[in-house]
Amino acid sequence: MNIILLGAPGAGKGTQAETLVKDFNLKHISTGDILREEVKKGSPVGLEAKEYMDKGLLVPDEVVIKLVAGAISGFGSRQGFLLDGFPRNENQAKMLEEKLCLVNRSINRVIYLKVSKEVVISRLSGRRICKDCGAVYHLKNIPPKKEGICDKCSGVLYQREDDSEKTVLNRLEVYKKETGGLINYYKDKNLLSEVDGDLAQEGTYALMLKEINNNCE
Ligand code: ADP
Ligand code: ZN
Repeated sequence: MNIILLGAPGAGKGTQAETLVKDFNLKHISTGDILREEVKKGSPVGLEAKEYMDKGLLVPDEVVIKLVAGAISGFGSRQGFLLDGFPRNENQAKMLEEKLCLVNRSINRVIYLKVSKEVVISRLSGRRICKDCGAVYHLKNIPPKKEGICDKCSGVLYQREDDSEKTVLNRLEVYKKETGGLINYYKDKNLLSEVDGDLAQEGTYALMLKEINNNCE
């Protein structure tokens, strides 16, 4: 089973992805995580990507599609995958189809996490991430047991640079302009499941499971 998670920044893609990949034994491919990893390494791709990410802009399509194609070719064809944060515009969606076609694979379902603007802004401003293992927390909704410290690995929690208020507003604009159109794109292909992403984590997850069970064998 191959799934795309679609939704605005702060819709909860990363959080839901974590549970979904465990329950269905999927490979988690998050372009945001891959790009942040490249930035951390200081690779040429990372250096180029950082310029865009800090401004809340999309990294050029050619750069991300290469990373995604690399990730997909890195595991056996019987293993399903979950795309999180990709595709982000129609061009990326088409490039993805071409790449998948070449390896005889396809997308089974696109889950669109629909959230309100207020929820998104509160989630992003309160989001904290573990420097060591990448676990995601929220100051109010998912607080760590000990302030500023990861429950899982005792790593230090930090705020993503692009979660600052100004960049968040930019990311939402970019989402509306570039990514919003993918909702109809996948609706037209009869692949889209719309799910309420404003609920608490478990509530949204239950709705996602229902959609998957109803639409994928
Ligand atoms: P969010 O979805 O919450 O904005 P991500 O971690 O998915 O966070 O992405 C962070 C940043 O990484 C984006 O603002 C963008 O600059 C870059 N990025 C991630 N995925 C893509 C993509 N598919 N295409 C272009 N840029 C991307
Ligand atoms: Zn950690």
